[in-house]
Amino acid sequence: MTVLVLGGTGEARALAQLLCDNEVDVVSSLAGRVRNPRLPVGAVRIGGFGGVAGLHVYLRTHGVDAVVDATHPFAEGISANAAEACRAARIPLVRLQRPGWTDNTGGWIRVACHDEAARVAAGGSGVFLTTGRQTLDRFVEPLGKHRVVVRIVDPLDGEFPPGWTVVHARGPYTFDSERTLMREYDVDTLVTKDSGGDLTRAKLDAAADLGARVIMVNRPVGPPGVRTVATVGDAVAWVLEPAVSRI
Ligand code: NAP
Repeated sequence: MTVLVLGGTGEARALAQLLCDNEVDVVSSLAGRVRNPRLPVGAVRIGGFGGVAGLHVYLRTHGVDAVVDATHPFAEGISANAAEACRAARIPLVRLQRPGWTDNTGGWIRVACHDEAARVAAGGSGVFLTTGRQTLDRFVEPLGKHRVVVRIVDPLDGEFPPGWTVVHARGPYTFDSERTLMREYDVDTLVTKDSGGDLTRAKLDAAADLGARVIMVNRPVGPPGVRTVATVGDAVAWVLEPAVSRI
């Protein structure tokens, strides 16, 4: 049995490990966005498939029996493509999506999109931007005159506004390191998206400790009709189910 794991997350790596442990043939797929990605065990392919049509061809020509979409909750494009291609190829698909974060403070400002996050963040004076490289352009104009610290994994081409500081780092982060960074840059506003999970949660606790505002971009709604599980263990159980009950 061959399982395609659409990856790019810690959960996808853990899943690949567990499936290999259970002697399932796994191919993990990465988009190829990050320069030195953390690689899962087992076979890995890197790069886009070429939209729904390309993924459909891949599924058909590589003998894929089941697909686990373990991509990031904000990776909307590949999740939509997977839903459509698997439906067309009649290959079972499950979405592994970790739960979103819970607001223990009751004070987070939840917003629907990055543009709204940028507008709300403009009310702050020291902004910590942790929403990732792909949406940075949405913040440049609204926060162009602000003091901003941006954290991204790899360096980016192009110029940032003069008041912006770019920090390159990759999680996991600790409460102490997040608190230190936020104090160093005198952060009063944290902008993040509801990625969920423990690896990047510490910034939320540090913000609460320092009394900084938290602006949280809500998750996009995933493709309809796709079965979703919340844990790696549940995804493994789904893969190991008899094929007939997976459809
Ligand atoms: P996206 O917008 O949903 O996808 C854009 C295109 O990238 C897809 O249409 C597909 O190209 C390709 N792609 C995405 N994920 C792929 C995968 N796992 N394997 C092969 N091709 C993939 O994706 P994204 O938000 O840029 O995220 C890219 C990757 O980074 C994902 O694997 C995701 O898990 C990981 N990631 C994303 C975030 C985030 O905040 N978005 C955070 C952490 C990690 P084709 O149409 O050519 O097939």
